[in-house]
Amino acid sequence: PVDLAGKLANLLGARNSASVVQAVSDVDLQIRAGEVIGVVGESGCGKSTLGRVIAGINPPSAGEVRYEGQPVAAMTAAQRKAYGLGVQMIFQNPMASLNPRMRVLDIVGEAPVVHGLVPASGKAEYVAELMRQVGLDPEYAQRYPHQFSGGQRQRIGIARALALKPRLIVCDEAVAALDVSIQAQVLNLFLELRKELALTYLFISHNLGVVGHVSDRVVIMYLGRVVEVAPTEVIFSRPAHPYTQALLAELPQLDAVRRDYRPIQGELPSPLNPPPGCAFHPRCPHAFARCKVERPALRALADGHLSACHLNEPAAPPATP
Ligand code: SF4
Ligand code: MG
Repeated sequence: PVDLAGKLANLLGARNSASVVQAVSDVDLQIRAGEVIGVVGESGCGKSTLGRVIAGINPPSAGEVRYEGQPVAAMTAAQRKAYGLGVQMIFQNPMASLNPRMRVLDIVGEAPVVHGLVPASGKAEYVAELMRQVGLDPEYAQRYPHQFSGGQRQRIGIARALALKPRLIVCDEAVAALDVSIQAQVLNLFLELRKELALTYLFISHNLGVVGHVSDRVVIMYLGRVVEVAPTEVIFSRPAHPYTQALLAELPQLDAVRRDYRPIQGELPSPLNPPPGCAFHPRCPHAFARCKVERPALRALADGHLSACHLNEPAAPPATP
């Protein structure tokens, strides 16, 4: 049953003086309860915008977001509050997102008291339990962010998100700033918490290897469009889109499947002025004449596997994930 859903279409991103950046287009994505969805793409592909729109930080300028079946735009104040608490975001740089003048006790414990999830008298115990949950010594609640390592700060950020009892956590490059060994520890913490708390994640990263480690399903984005969606094992064993194949070719361990794939070539074009036709055509090793003039639709290749590439035709009519 689908009870967490984000339905998005034609989202328009930030305006600049010259033009409107179309950050994310034609994304129709349902996030199922308990699922981990990975969103992968280069910087500027619109994946952060997608995350911020789903988390309610940026409004969609077109299309809609639904939470538990309810369109966000039509929500009552009470429903809006439940949505605001139910979807929490964890960012790349925990130092920038933690107030340096606040103790962990307040960073983690203030919002749940304000929102009435815990009485003020129970705050210290509530924070201590959250700190245990994310693998931090509860004694550290009196400390300030600068007294922690990068990995510990990200655990504080996770505790702060968990304090509001979210159903969905949007992680935007949540481990990108950490050393590789610490990355693995934090990723494993995400997986443990998912099991313990029945959490749902949208896991945004430029790193397909990181996303593959935690996700059930992967969404590949390029210049504001979804180009492939599939269960993680299908993305790694039978990727259909040349861009996904190029991302796989860049991962360190090359296996037999990936030996034929060519790494990505050339520069990422400006999202302000994406190439016509298939936006990937200037960098695609398989591009042909039609690719320059006609944009390929996202089509179903198999159950749960969608790809937007002319090479993937003939196939079923356009479908949505
Ligand atoms: Fe490459 Fe053409 Fe497919 Fe785009 S549509 S990915 S340019 S082959
Ligand atoms: Mg980003």
